[in-house]
Amino acid sequence: MVGITASDFAHRWISLLDIKLSYEYHAPDTNSIEGLNSMTDLPKCPKCDDDYTYQDRDMFVCPSCAHEWSSAADGSASETGEGDDAVRDSNGNVLQDGDTVVVIKDLKVKGTSLVVKGGTKVKNIRLVDGDHDIDCKIPGIGSMGLKSEFVKKA
Ligand SMILES: [Zn+2]
Repeated sequence: MVGITASDFAHRWISLLDIKLSYEYHAPDTNSIEGLNSMTDLPKCPKCDDDYTYQDRDMFVCPSCAHEWSSAADGSASETGEGDDAVRDSNGNVLQDGDTVVVIKDLKVKGTSLVVKGGTKVKNIRLVDGDHDIDCKIPGIGSMGLKSEFVKKA
């Protein structure tokens, strides 16, 4: 007896691969289901506080108490930026794109001899990320970045 032939060996090797493949096929499958659950981030039921909420078109539905509520209202609330990411003026008021603000102190414009006088009204601001979190156009000076801590909502 010579033991196993080359083709026998190949056959066994393929069987092993098959087992490995089918095992790997199932493993990520369960992972992705868990991942989906945590990523959908559905709110708890406001009525009974159960965590089994599912989404039906633009409604949230609680299977525990059959309560239904609108997901649209929830979505817009989280997009208005009431959270900690909100840009606030010197008084702590939340600023939004298109707001008019007033500069509260003289600000030198970096790299120029220009000064934005305290009391200057700046219309139609745009919020941006960064150190100077307000993009705006100041009459007589042009486009520049302002820090929200040096303005107040008009
Ligand atoms: Zn409920």
